Amino acid sequence: MKLLSAIYFAVAAATTAFAADSRYSGDQVVRFNVTSPKDADILKDAIDKGGLGLDVWTHRASAAGKIDVRAIKKLGLPYTVLVPDLQALVDAERDHMGKNSEVLHNSLMSGEPVQLTAATIFNDWQSYETLSAFIAGLPGVTQLPSIGKTYQGRDINAFKFGTGPYAVVFNGGIHAREWISPATTTYVTDQLVKNADLLKKFTFYVIPVLNPDGYAYTRAASGQRYHRKNLEPNAGTSCIGTDINRNFDYMWSKPGASSDQCSDTYYGKAALSTAEASSLSKFIKSIPNTVGYVDLHSYSEMFLFANGYTCTGQVKDYDTLYKGSKLAADAIKATSGEIFKYGGSCATSYKTSGDTVDYMYNAVGVTYSYTLELRPNENAASGTAGFNPPVSEIIPSGQETTAAFLALWNYVYGQLSATPSPSTSPLPPTSISKTSAPTSKTATPATTSAAVCSHTVCVTGGKLVSSCSDCAKAVCAKDSYCCNTSWDSTCVREVSQYCTGVAC
Ligand SMILES: [Zn+2]
Repeated sequence: MKLLSAIYFAVAAATTAFAADSRYSGDQVVRFNVTSPKDADILKDAIDKGGLGLDVWTHRASAAGKIDVRAIKKLGLPYTVLVPDLQALVDAERDHMGKNSEVLHNSLMSGEPVQLTAATIFNDWQSYETLSAFIAGLPGVTQLPSIGKTYQGRDINAFKFGTGPYAVVFNGGIHAREWISPATTTYVTDQLVKNADLLKKFTFYVIPVLNPDGYAYTRAASGQRYHRKNLEPNAGTSCIGTDINRNFDYMWSKPGASSDQCSDTYYGKAALSTAEASSLSKFIKSIPNTVGYVDLHSYSEMFLFANGYTCTGQVKDYDTLYKGSKLAADAIKATSGEIFKYGGSCATSYKTSGDTVDYMYNAVGVTYSYTLELRPNENAASGTAGFNPPVSEIIPSGQETTAAFLALWNYVYGQLSATPSPSTSPLPPTSISKTSAPTSKTATPATTSAAVCSHTVCVTGGKLVSSCSDCAKAVCAKDSYCCNTSWDSTCVREVSQYCTGVAC
């Protein structure tokens, strides 16, 4: 079992952590050094039973919960203290934000003119609103209609840039406490919009924070810095939230996720029950020619692909997925020297079910689907817990991730170009024919039907079917989508860009 080869575990040792008062006084982050199968079994048993409350931070274990210092000592396993005073770390982080990102955020929200530049953005952990405003102002970026609303009523913002025939979707912030993810997602966006060559090959769709409720909650002084899930309440318990990355409709509720509402990996009351997961699902299915997807997380430094739900066997596209992740990891190493592991998600990390990477690959048919675990790794310096890297890590993380994106997507483009579709469509094919899993985009192709307009189009399986001027009036065949191109007069070109998801 994978756990037996695990080397390090970092946990929050918490007598009071995650309590309602948000204080982490007396809490520590400790690291177990597991060197024998027997020790691994002891720790796995403690994690699985949940009674000790281990909150596992690194991606080397199979469950999550809470533990206190005395309980850790009861395990009888050796450990080292990474963060001797977690509250001091949180206080220092918030103090810095109070002088930087909060000032910027308050100015932005009050309507004052603010300078949103890379220099002013990437020196702190910025708010959802600031990151969104920054991306919206980048050259060549279009803010799309909100892809959905969260439990607390926040719009889930999405942006588009590039004109290439293949679509790539990437998102940050699915897990609230992983702050370097939205920051890195934004940094990468700022870099990619300047890359004319790549923008001819791909059209990118970016969602900087998929879980904006949770993100805001971790940033608020009255919130919980280490909250991971969304903020939807659960009936019959005070434990809040569903793990969005266990809520997707592929192998949902199977081993690798928890039925316990208080668990950090709670899979929710139904597949796609969360606003965030269902919104992302509808959004990505509405985009023709989606060949790539990246879900940015932290931490552990890994580049992972399907499958997460099983450690057995390899997916059909294993070789090209593996090559893509290797090229990305190599690019990171050449840029920063950081060593990212890569490979199948379960085999490389641990078992997860109902997650994005499996769903996008198996159910939606996005071949080049990846989960990226950003820095730091297990060797991060003592005193800088994994979810609290110093702000000086934002730019290096952004730089190495940009390098990974360039290496990966140029490789993917080469792969796609080398195997042209027999389709006569003016648009390249999606990759969905490579998977045997059912998907709405792999439905039996509909026959072209008459349409009556000129600024929107009907699309089936990524192919332009017909033109029309109004989605409400469009006459598209069954299983086609009506694509709104109202923000661009080049209607036909826009067919590969963005669909409303309205099935005609
Ligand atoms: Zn995560």
